[in-house]
Amino acid sequence: MKLANVAGRLNVILGDNALDVEQASEGLFGADPQAVYERWQDFVDWVESAPPRGARPFDLANLGPPVPKPAQIFAIGVNYAEHAAEAGYPPDSMPVTFTKFPTCLTGPSAVVELPSDSVDWEVELVVAISKRAERVQRAQAWDHVAGLTIGQDLSERQVQMAGTKPQFSLGKSFPGFGPSGPWLVTPDELHDPNDLAIGCTLSGEVVQNSRTSRMIYDIAGLIERLSSVCPLLPGDLIFTGTPAGVGNARTPKRFIRSDDVLISSIEGIGSMTTRFNSPPPLAGSDDD
Ligand code: ZN
Repeated sequence: MKLANVAGRLNVILGDNALDVEQASEGLFGADPQAVYERWQDFVDWVESAPPRGARPFDLANLGPPVPKPAQIFAIGVNYAEHAAEAGYPPDSMPVTFTKFPTCLTGPSAVVELPSDSVDWEVELVVAISKRAERVQRAQAWDHVAGLTIGQDLSERQVQMAGTKPQFSLGKSFPGFGPSGPWLVTPDELHDPNDLAIGCTLSGEVVQNSRTSRMIYDIAGLIERLSSVCPLLPGDLIFTGTPAGVGNARTPKRFIRSDDVLISSIEGIGSMTTRFNSPPPLAGSDDD
């Protein structure tokens, strides 16, 4: 199953069409794309038992983030060895956990305002949680996964690196810094949800290209580790870390410009396109 947020309403994607869940279920399930995780198993049963009719064409430009208002977003840094190496961390580094504050989420066709000339890309596999996960063992971890989607952990490197300790959560939470989508794909749709090609291109150049099987902590390992401390709640997200190829690690460094087009792709899920613009001049500013 593919689930999308079409203009703020929960839809099931069926080929090129989208089925509005509230209408098709005659109100059994509401339109709010976030609320479905509170009744995830009921919803899955409904989709499977009543082959839905009434799907209509939809416009990709109207898609919002598939999981728009998670209570918690966990994000993992240094979860691919080759990215740890390019970022200057030793090979045995423990992955680090931070948050992207939920106000940074945006959809898969977003235009993101660049707050500076130091904004970097990080394509990531994003996991959505289907039911409360508390001290979950690795073997049961996938029972708590609703689906997977594509995310960009956009990162403003000056804010991130300004102090003596990195400010991951702030530097990665400007408005629009969490593009996600285009839809949430349930694990049964994927040949091997632990081994998916992942990458992104910046204005046509392949800048990241890896496989999710190269994660240091895989999805089950992350759920086990995170849920040993925090309960994971239905509709929470985990940004699982980025592979090598970020702009900050290049020589010379390369950051996103307002005319760049960033296309992020994951095998079996699809791709999303992010565009950028420069901030408007500050009010009262004389120079132009
Ligand atoms: Zn990241």
